[in-house]
Amino acid sequence: MEKLIRGIVEFRKKITQEERDLFAKLASGQRPDALFIACSDSRVVPNTFASTNPGDLFVIRNMGNLVPPAANTKELSTQAAIEFSIYNLKVSNIIVCGHSECGAMQALIEGNNCKMSHLAPWLEIGEPSIERLKTFKGIDRSLSKHNQLSQANVLQQMDHILSYRFVQEKIASGKLRIHGWWFNIATTDVYSYEADPKKFVLIDEIEADVILRRLH
Ligand SMILES: [Zn+2]
Repeated sequence: MEKLIRGIVEFRKKITQEERDLFAKLASGQRPDALFIACSDSRVVPNTFASTNPGDLFVIRNMGNLVPPAANTKELSTQAAIEFSIYNLKVSNIIVCGHSECGAMQALIEGNNCKMSHLAPWLEIGEPSIERLKTFKGIDRSLSKHNQLSQANVLQQMDHILSYRFVQEKIASGKLRIHGWWFNIATTDVYSYEADPKKFVLIDEIEADVILRRLH
């Protein structure tokens, strides 16, 4: 906590004029082009590994980067943020980003024996990912089981997003794309799911060009 408090003072001292100008401009409104759905895990740092600036990403973070499917009417926070980002911010990309060594995935692999009254039902949203893993042919079987599940979970949560009619409509009109990414904490590598060849591919310069070509 001390680092956090001292960091605020440091930020006040070190902020550049360029950064001040950016924040002043952003005060009049945000125009992010992507919604980024990630885990709450403190080691997942999209602003660092994707070199993003304030105003670039609209972010949802929760345990396990989960998205309740349309049929789930008990949870509303995540869906509300998706709805807002699409209708108000008009984002054209949604990225679901899983990560290695995810505690939520480890809990699911162990059978979701969580005794916490809110966390256990929340993690149930990730349970279909266990079935998904069994049929996920392109998975890297050299990964540990919970990391394999984390990758399968990205695909499952992408499907959950697709279960919403308003998402389906935006995709059909060519105004929205959904991407599945996976961050390996130990190596700092980020992977993107490719429907062909149905596996996660390292985002290096070549893969970056592939993704960007698809966007244009
Ligand atoms: Zn996690």
